[in-house]
Amino acid sequence: MKFKSKTQFKSIGLALLALVALAACDNDETEITGTELNVTDLTLQDENALLFMLEEEKLARDTYDFLDGLYGINQFANIKVSEQSHVDAVAKLLDQYQIEYTLLPYGEFANEEMQKLYDQFMEKGQIDASNALEVGATIEDLDIVDLVAFIDAATNPSVIGVFESLQCGSRNHLRSFVRAIENSGETYAPQFLTIEEYNTIVDSTNERCGP
Ligand code: ZN
Ligand code: ZN
Repeated sequence: MKFKSKTQFKSIGLALLALVALAACDNDETEITGTELNVTDLTLQDENALLFMLEEEKLARDTYDFLDGLYGINQFANIKVSEQSHVDAVAKLLDQYQIEYTLLPYGEFANEEMQKLYDQFMEKGQIDASNALEVGATIEDLDIVDLVAFIDAATNPSVIGVFESLQCGSRNHLRSFVRAIENSGETYAPQFLTIEEYNTIVDSTNERCGP
């Protein structure tokens, strides 16, 4: 190909350069947008909710693990396994969004509020089996109410999905603890749920909860 003038050559050259730049730019943008979407998809609020729930699920697991060691009550042995899966579900989502977190050893919490609750539950749970079961119902009662607030505030569908599945598990756990309390001739009075919400849960049958 023969160019008629210097000017024409220059403009073709510029056009080519522009095309190359555009293509490169396109590629970059796709990549950056892809990465950013994964990270920014999660609002700071959702991130904090996940970190909070990680320790609240750990609170349940650690408490039941301790109480399982004290009493031969099926509920603690079974439900602590379920709480481990709840901790894992939250941790998996945190990993997915590359959010740093630390799972402290059993009985230790970064969140002061959780540490205080754990210490109170330890003290009460050691009194006798009936107090221990009440601790179990109290944890599930609190868990459900905290999750209602987090689900309402959450915007990320994966976060909402995991929280709904944890909440479903908590309703089953609450039914299980309340059944054991009532079998021993005692009653549980809800401390966080309204009496209507509580009755709706305990009067209905166990649910199949999502992953
Ligand atoms: Zn749980
Ligand atoms: Zn639970």
